[in-house]
Amino acid sequence: MEDKILFKKGDKLDTDITDMGINGEGIGKADGYTLFIKDAVIGDRVRVSIMKAKKGYAYAHLDEVLIPSKDRVTPACPVARSCGGCQLQALSYPSQLKFKHDKVRNDLIRIGGFDEGFVDSVMQDIVGMDGAPVRYRGKSQFPVGRDREGNIVTGFYAGHSHNIIPIDDCVIGAGEYAEITKIIRDHMRRYDIAPYDEASGTGLVRHILIRKGYKTGEIMVCLVLNRGRAANKDMYLTGQEELLNALASVKDMTSVSVNLNTDRGNVILGDETDTLWGREVIRDIIEPVADADLQNMEDSSSGAAEHRAITYSISPKSFYQVNPAQTDRLYSLALEYAHLTGTETVWDLYCGIGTISLFLAAGAAHVYGVEIVPEAVRDAKNNASLNGIDNASFYTGKAEDIELSDAPASSPASDEQSDRILLPPPDVIVIDPPRKGCDEALLSTILKASPSRIVYVSCDPATLARDLKILCEGGYELRKVIPVDMFPHSIHVETVALLINPNAYGKGD
Ligand code: SAH
Repeated sequence: MEDKILFKKGDKLDTDITDMGINGEGIGKADGYTLFIKDAVIGDRVRVSIMKAKKGYAYAHLDEVLIPSKDRVTPACPVARSCGGCQLQALSYPSQLKFKHDKVRNDLIRIGGFDEGFVDSVMQDIVGMDGAPVRYRGKSQFPVGRDREGNIVTGFYAGHSHNIIPIDDCVIGAGEYAEITKIIRDHMRRYDIAPYDEASGTGLVRHILIRKGYKTGEIMVCLVLNRGRAANKDMYLTGQEELLNALASVKDMTSVSVNLNTDRGNVILGDETDTLWGREVIRDIIEPVADADLQNMEDSSSGAAEHRAITYSISPKSFYQVNPAQTDRLYSLALEYAHLTGTETVWDLYCGIGTISLFLAAGAAHVYGVEIVPEAVRDAKNNASLNGIDNASFYTGKAEDIELSDAPASSPASDEQSDRILLPPPDVIVIDPPRKGCDEALLSTILKASPSRIVYVSCDPATLARDLKILCEGGYELRKVIPVDMFPHSIHVETVALLINPNAYGKGD
């Protein structure tokens, strides 16, 4: 039965949604045949039409919800279904959290090869947001284009396409987004400034990047333009002064810049940025949260680490977590799991603008941050001085190219200009890689460096599970895994895992 094609395009049928797939789609069965149905929610009874049938499974369109699931809610956003940004808005928040918790659990079992009972013993409850998770995002990038009638629109891409769904107000973004995007659309209309057209590569305005520092209130706007650097800063846009005055009148506006990108590809930001008004950067603050705010934390007396808030300067191109409230919790967990006492040498790999490094520095002897993007390393160094931190060093390079030095921790690391990144033996390693996870060469370096603790911060549970398997086969013990919901309404989930070296602590310590 399973390997047959049971249906053809256009067939209609009713089914119960009994599960949810990794992309947030509902899963129903028909005679053992699996149906993947976008926008259907676990517990729904739905009427669908087949879109694409394969051997054993088909993709179907949700035509009608016949009996809604008890976990189904009305999305806060009117375009939740067509916009590609949020996949789970029709699912109640507690069910979203369960979906994410199960995703991490299943990956640890299926991909990590860990025993089910063991996974349940190390997994902590997912850390969700308090209250309704709206207006949480500190960064959004709105594509600019035209609708069918030729009107200028800003919004988000529909799922798996580059069709712009016009959105005036994004409910997960800052309230100021609507005002800012309207000012820019109105200005483009008034002065006949063309949006970028992907097909022809013509037109000027590609994207509007907006960031807000939630703790400071500071707002940054960066217009991504399809052009090179202007000889004179006043000459990027027609009527530029008028636009800058209008943007400057938005409460808490701190920085207005243009980023220049003439590349035909999908990468949003180009290499060069020119600040037109205000500061080059905005600032935001990340504060440790008391242990009591986190669920099921042990080690509440952890180390002698000094807990302090850190201020970060963020430029348009820097990576900075998009959910500031949950970042406080995420980094507090990393700090908790690192269990610092003030004497440790710490490696923070994939360190970005030094966010985690600086958060840990007060509790450690020295933190060594490694990051591939030179601008981020520059920001990390600035952020260290901004916070008066002198026991953190930052290196540009690939985490997989790090070499372990034989020198004791007190000796300085390799010079920052050299191609080699030679780091002293670590007591704690923190890793926070992008979705593809760690390179195998790095995992071997970590095993060779043999720190007492490894804190793995991950934005993809599948690659986390793969890498944990390798680290555990190399002798580490997985002690804790805690998912953190950084991206409510989306399918994405962040996870912090703690591994310990049994030789450093003794088994079961
Ligand atoms: N820890 C930081 C950044 C995490 S995002 C924070 O929480 O803010 C992952 C970072 O890894 C990005 O800054 C990216 O530029 C960097 N990166 C990607 N591949 C890398 C590699 N091979 N080696 C080092 N850094 C890398």
